Amino acid sequence: MSVVILLADGARPDSLDVALQRGELPALARLRDEGGLHVVTSCFPSVTGPAYTPFLMGRFPGPVGLPGLRWFDRARTACRFPDYTRSYVGYQMSAVDRDLDPDAPTIFELCDESLAALSVISRGLDKGRRIGAITARSAFRAATTHFRGNVAGWLDIDRDVADQIVERIRKDRPAFTFAALTGVDKVSHARGHASAMVLDALRIVDNTAARIRDDAEQDGRWKAMSLWIVSDHGHSPVVHHEDLAALIEAAGMRTMSHPWVYNIAPEVAVMVSGNAMAHLYLEVPARSRPAAGDGRVGALIEMLLARPSVDLLITPVDAAAVVYARQRGAARIWHDDRGYHYRRESGDPLGLLTDISCASMNAAYGATLESDYPDGIVQIVNLATAPRSGEIILSAARDWDFRARYEPIPHISSHGALHREHMLVPLLVNQPVKREPRRTVDVMPSALTSLGLPVPDGLDGESFL
Ligand SMILES: [Zn+2]
Repeated sequence: MSVVILLADGARPDSLDVALQRGELPALARLRDEGGLHVVTSCFPSVTGPAYTPFLMGRFPGPVGLPGLRWFDRARTACRFPDYTRSYVGYQMSAVDRDLDPDAPTIFELCDESLAALSVISRGLDKGRRIGAITARSAFRAATTHFRGNVAGWLDIDRDVADQIVERIRKDRPAFTFAALTGVDKVSHARGHASAMVLDALRIVDNTAARIRDDAEQDGRWKAMSLWIVSDHGHSPVVHHEDLAALIEAAGMRTMSHPWVYNIAPEVAVMVSGNAMAHLYLEVPARSRPAAGDGRVGALIEMLLARPSVDLLITPVDAAAVVYARQRGAARIWHDDRGYHYRRESGDPLGLLTDISCASMNAAYGATLESDYPDGIVQIVNLATAPRSGEIILSAARDWDFRARYEPIPHISSHGALHREHMLVPLLVNQPVKREPRRTVDVMPSALTSLGLPVPDGLDGESFL
């Protein structure tokens, strides 16, 4: 048996579906006809890096140590003096593997014969089993593409990486392959998710799947191969950028934020992901979370909630989360041994029209699936109670994100938030499933099941096979 997962980073289920219906992606259409195309939920934050933990660990990102693409290490146990911040954008990317909970296994640690391409998480994988931008040509391309904002260059990188993946699968026959193609995401940020170049990027995924299948059919491996196409987050247009750090500075609090994290005597660390979500860490010098109820914090929350850029504002309170939305009031969300709970207090910020008590993880999923925040209850509790999360967590409103400066390519589309356009992703599988897949965390246990390997305890997902 073998499993190949192609991750079309940033692909939305509706865009994929339209392209399939128009006959643009013949290899993927064939896979869909033999298996199925499902829509599942990703995780919060819906951003590359954190949103890979479901596929590779079967776990949501916050509790295993990746609360965001950028975060502040209040405990000062993972990051370095003097700023104690992490940004996986750039040279600290390799810190991901160290930051992850060592007790939560990656699929690479459970399946020796693995191969990965452009995987942010690679713990357990020998160097020789990693495909990156390793050739001189592609490294040069990656650098020039990044700094010149050359969007078409990203698709050339995808083609290079795809060639390497196809060849390595044919030659080495790995049991498990995880390969990320990032063209859809890069093009979406720069040109919009509806741009024709997104279809070009999807065609590269289609062509890669076709070649992997052809090779497997030729040497008799196809019948025992699971070939799945997934995505880690969606996308939605951005019209306005809130300069969150500048906003908080203007309110009279000194901030630290990337790329200028070495500020003097900062009070608030502003850590943006995707760019439609952010963690705010208050009282930066303190080693443990400041107590709630500080008057300045209350004023900051009020100021943020008045901004049109902020859709949901979440504050961890003990083992619960209080969720606020402008004009929709606040509710309390928590998880205990009876299950998940959503209690409306001054309003119904998630728009569920009811309280929810003692819901199983699946019932909490069902209760939110048709709302604007699919899987919102489970995702909010998991992130808000993660030890590395901020004291204020923001999810951006539609049309907005939280970074106005320092992006090498302009962002006219973003992700990271909790709303549907960012949280729903496609899961295309080449075999019928035993039950409807729900979340991207279901992919890892399903892959292990398909490989005949034991599924470890403590995962957030369940096999759909
Ligand atoms: Zn992105």
